[in-house]
Amino acid sequence: MSYKSDKDLGLVLCTHCNSVFKVEEKICTKCNSELKQREEYSLVKTLSFTIVAMIFLFPANILTMMDVTTLGVSEKSTILDGIVYFFETKSYLIAIVIFFASIIVPIFKLLVLVYLLYTTKYNKTYLAKNATKYYRIIKFIGKWSMIDIFVVALMIVMVQFGNLSNITAGPAAIAFTVVVVSTMLATESFDTRLLWDKD
Ligand SMILES: [Zn+2]
Repeated sequence: MSYKSDKDLGLVLCTHCNSVFKVEEKICTKCNSELKQREEYSLVKTLSFTIVAMIFLFPANILTMMDVTTLGVSEKSTILDGIVYFFETKSYLIAIVIFFASIIVPIFKLLVLVYLLYTTKYNKTYLAKNATKYYRIIKFIGKWSMIDIFVVALMIVMVQFGNLSNITAGPAAIAFTVVVVSTMLATESFDTRLLWDKD
């Protein structure tokens, strides 16, 4: 693939008004925005947030998501228990939504982030086009990531309706929120222009 970037030409592009300047320039003279040829520490930030998300994915799935107390008897359940419960009670749609939102989607996003980091770190520019496509996908689904927390809230409302139960969110809810937020920050910190740099 043959192309020349701002970096190859010793230029810097203003991402706000599309003007180009010599690389030494720090402020766009046209729109006063800060000029950055590439985001600083982009890779380090993306890597750090990705690692945090990977670590917290374990407590999110292993620890208690919901603690249901009925007449003094406490029953703790994990995300997986919730999926099994909804599957057994034939609420297949809810079971599938929780399964995707809490297990498939976070793992998919983390795999994409690793792919982006690998492509950039080892200058695999032939993978850049594909990597950019996946970046767009995870950026899009990032907006829907909190769906799982909404599902838990919905479950709480549903179970409490007509039951003498007291329900609280467990530590897994906090861990899951950390996963979602860290993944979003990892995605936001990533400068896609780095994918196309040949060195
Ligand atoms: Zn500008």
